[in-house]
Amino acid sequence: MAIGKIIILTAPSGAGKSSISYHLLENNEWLAFSVSAATREKRKGEIDGVHYYFMSPEEFREKVKNNEFLEWEMVYKDNYYGTLRSEIERIWAEGKTPLLDIDVKGAIHIEQEYPNNTLSIFVQPPSIEVLEDRLRSRGTESEEKIQTRMSKAAYEISLRDSFDKIIVNDDLDRACAEAEKAITQFVKQP
Ligand code: 5GP
Repeated sequence: MAIGKIIILTAPSGAGKSSISYHLLENNEWLAFSVSAATREKRKGEIDGVHYYFMSPEEFREKVKNNEFLEWEMVYKDNYYGTLRSEIERIWAEGKTPLLDIDVKGAIHIEQEYPNNTLSIFVQPPSIEVLEDRLRSRGTESEEKIQTRMSKAAYEISLRDSFDKIIVNDDLDRACAEAEKAITQFVKQP
């Protein structure tokens, strides 16, 4: 299948990437959320095939072996996440552009593999302190997990220049408008 366009939204955990992703999908019917495969536990309210394709580590490894992933990462200890080629092809076949909400390393892989077809947007939290407050206020993570995510976030922020566009999320409305402008320009390009 011919390679179409890919839009990636990436960020450290807690930077507000999901809110921006939600806004973009609500307002642009030509965009479609790329549902990733994941081996982590399903959280309350999550639906298989909507939020993720939940699968066992064995099933995931089998797909890695069969080269079914465009990229995959062990994002958190013992939890694998990956973008299935079949998912991207399904979205292209519908005449839409996939929106990938993936971690920084996975985003760099796709950007390197398809530099001309990819728009990668890095969502930066206003500060490390704000990021920590957001992670705590979610109330879903243990202290240990918060500390792991914080050290990972500092590393990820150091990689921000690898991406096409950096959007600082100090004001959600402004960040959404900036992201919308960037994706609209990108799809209009031949
Ligand atoms: P969560 O477990 O909170 O849903 O997601 C954890 C992290 O995994 C998020 O930063 C999310 O963007 C990332 N992620 C989700 N799907 C993929 C994927 O297919 N590939 C990669 N590399 N990261 C992913």
